[in-house]
Amino acid sequence: MDELQVVVDRVYNRIMAEPLEGKVADYIPALACVAPDRFGIALQMLDGRLATAGDAFSPFSIQSISKLFSLVLALQTWGDELWERVGREPSGTAFNSLVLLEQENGLPRNPFINAGALAVTNAIVSRFALPDRAIIDFLGHLAGDIKLVFDDTVFRSEYVHGDRNRAIAYFLKAHGRMENPVEAVTTAYFKQCSIPMSCVDLARAGLFLATGGKTLKGNQIIGPVEARQVCSLMLTCGLYDGTGDFSFRVGWPGKSGVGGGILAVIPGRGTACVWSPPLTEKGNSVRGMRALELLARALENGEL
Ligand code: GLN
Repeated sequence: MDELQVVVDRVYNRIMAEPLEGKVADYIPALACVAPDRFGIALQMLDGRLATAGDAFSPFSIQSISKLFSLVLALQTWGDELWERVGREPSGTAFNSLVLLEQENGLPRNPFINAGALAVTNAIVSRFALPDRAIIDFLGHLAGDIKLVFDDTVFRSEYVHGDRNRAIAYFLKAHGRMENPVEAVTTAYFKQCSIPMSCVDLARAGLFLATGGKTLKGNQIIGPVEARQVCSLMLTCGLYDGTGDFSFRVGWPGKSGVGGGILAVIPGRGTACVWSPPLTEKGNSVRGMRALELLARALENGEL
């Protein structure tokens, strides 16, 4: 058996033997319906090798992992001008916090907290007639030209319970930082968050970040400088106020979502995506972080 698969199986079995900790997100009620013991790992190397375990091929709600791809799409269309709309500093506050916006003139700290992602989605709405289509088509293309769909149940569930994100969007608007209607921006944002994808799909979609911005087929998605910058943001802000702990334990740029997924980039080597719904208080998958920590150690020990 391939050594990569041996390592992934070992990590999977070790974690399955540990007690299941954390709490499945329920502030978006549709997310609470997912079985807490689902668990998948996908490791995709640049040389084409793929190793998987458990539910690696089962689609789950990508939620905030979508923020990574909407940022890249916005960078494609706006270039450096995008940074006039969103900052690049860790926030040290919850992903859906409004606190810093009040203190900092409505300029979101970074593109991965909700305020920053709404500013990025607003930038996309300004450039595309069908912004949600632009995001889903871009993601499908990156994942290997696969067809992706929005999950209508998850979308509606968040739409009905989305007042906090609407509040953030109105706040940006009040500060002159949102030129599009709040309804249009939050709808596109809820839609991008609702997309179901598997660990394997996400690992493939993120590969261009491990290669300086180029897909395996040679398509340059963003330049090498931008790819490095996006990875730096993942390393400093990708798991909100849990990023420091994640970077300390894992050391790879990562992006989490409240659906329980985490996508990590292994620079120069590949990507890893893990999924397990129960979350820490900060909204990051408990088992996901643990699995990536064990994979990073295996890589360090020369086992991968
Ligand atoms: N759609 C979710 C929200 O806006 C995404 C949050 C997350 O995954 N951290 O609250």
